[in-house]
Amino acid sequence: MSKAYVEELLERRGVGIESIADIVFHLQHGYYPDLTLEECVESVRAVLQKREVQYTLYTGIALDELAEKGLLPQPLQALMEADEPLFGVDETLALGITSVYGMIGLTSFGYVDKDKTGIMKQLNRKDQGVHVFLDDLVAGLAAAASARIAHRNEGAKHYPTPPS
Ligand code: MG
Repeated sequence: MSKAYVEELLERRGVGIESIADIVFHLQHGYYPDLTLEECVESVRAVLQKREVQYTLYTGIALDELAEKGLLPQPLQALMEADEPLFGVDETLALGITSVYGMIGLTSFGYVDKDKTGIMKQLNRKDQGVHVFLDDLVAGLAAAASARIAHRNEGAKHYPTPPS
């Protein structure tokens, strides 16, 4: 199991790395005018390297695919088919990805989830299959990659040491 496999898995579900990077760019270019799409792609790939992120993706995507095949036990199958707004487990799972990079990731996650930026809109169309988990996983990945960029840039600044 590797980063390449996770990219393949996302691709199979209709999500290219570039479409996640597009959301990252949208979130961060206002703060970093020199930011390039390539840096955003690189940041998404760095997030995908974390094993806990990979495991989270396997779990959420498996549940989406099982729901598409009608293979989940009830009432979970019905909840997933309806994409019940109060379900909440999809967001809870995806927040695991975001929390890897602290609070900035958390606020970005909420924003992407509400704003339905880029590919998020596509994933929220009900006629395109079951994406109960995938939309939140994409938001989580974008938020984490975005927080990672913010942390790296803040890390480059030098602050005076506080008086002891
Ligand atoms: Mg969802």
